[in-house]
Amino acid sequence: MNIEINNKSYKIKKAVATLLEALIYIKENIEPVLGFDYGCKSGVCGACAVRVNGKEKLSCTYTPQDGDKIEPLRYYPIKRDLIVDKSSQKGLLKRVKTALLSYNQQMLTPQDELKTQIQSDCILCSSCYSACPVIEVNPNFAGPFALTKTYKYAIDAREAKQKEHIDTIQSNGIWDCTLCGECTLACPQNIDSKTDIINLRNLSAKYGYMDPNFNNMNFGGGFGLDFNGRF
Ligand code: SF4
Ligand code: SF4
Repeated sequence: MNIEINNKSYKIKKAVATLLEALIYIKENIEPVLGFDYGCKSGVCGACAVRVNGKEKLSCTYTPQDGDKIEPLRYYPIKRDLIVDKSSQKGLLKRVKTALLSYNQQMLTPQDELKTQIQSDCILCSSCYSACPVIEVNPNFAGPFALTKTYKYAIDAREAKQKEHIDTIQSNGIWDCTLCGECTLACPQNIDSKTDIINLRNLSAKYGYMDPNFNNMNFGGGFGLDFNGRF
C-alpha cells in the first residue's frame, strides 16, 4: 500500500490496521524524522487528527487505503510535517467564555447533565475547526468547537449569567456561521456543532439579538435598520 504525506509517497510493506500504525511504520523504516502527533492510540485524546483526502480523521481510528493523501489540519501553524501548533485554542476558549461565570445552584441533577452530555464529550481534536470553510475567509471566527463549548456553559443549569455567554458570541461568532454542517460531519465524537450554533442563535433572539446581516440589507429607502442598536 502507498500513502502520500504532504505530496511525498511512502510504501507500507506490512499490514496496518490504522493510519497511525502506517505513520509509525514510516518513521521506523523509511523516514526517521517524520513528524506526527499521537497520544492515547484509542480515539480519546484527539492529538492525532490529520486530513485524509481533504477530510479530517483521527489517525488512530482511521483505516488507511491505498493512495490516501495525508496532510496536517488546516488553519494552525505547522510545526513539522503533520504536527500543528494548537496553542491558540486556549485563548479562543477564553475569548468565548467557555467556563461557568457564576452559580445559581451547586449540584447538577442527572437530567441537567443529560442536556450537555454530548458537548462534554469534546476532545479538542480540532477536526471541526479544520473542516470549517468560514475560518479560511475570517480567521477571527470563533469556529465550531468553541461555540459548542459556549453553548454547553450557556445552558448549564448552574449558570446564573447566561446572557454574558450570549453577548460574547455576537461578533465573529454565531452569525458568521453559514450552517454548512462540515463541522458536524468531521466530529469523531458525533458532536453536532451546527445545531449548537442554531440553538445559540435562538437563545440570542431571546435576549433581543438578531442576525446583523439584516443590517446590510437595503429595504428600498436605505433606512439602515439596526436591529441590535437598541441593546
Ligand atoms: S456549520 Fe458553521 S461552524 Fe460548522 S463548519 Fe459550517 S460554517 Fe463552520
Ligand atoms: S467538537 Fe468534535 S471535532 Fe470539534 S474539537 Fe470537539 S471532538 Fe473534535
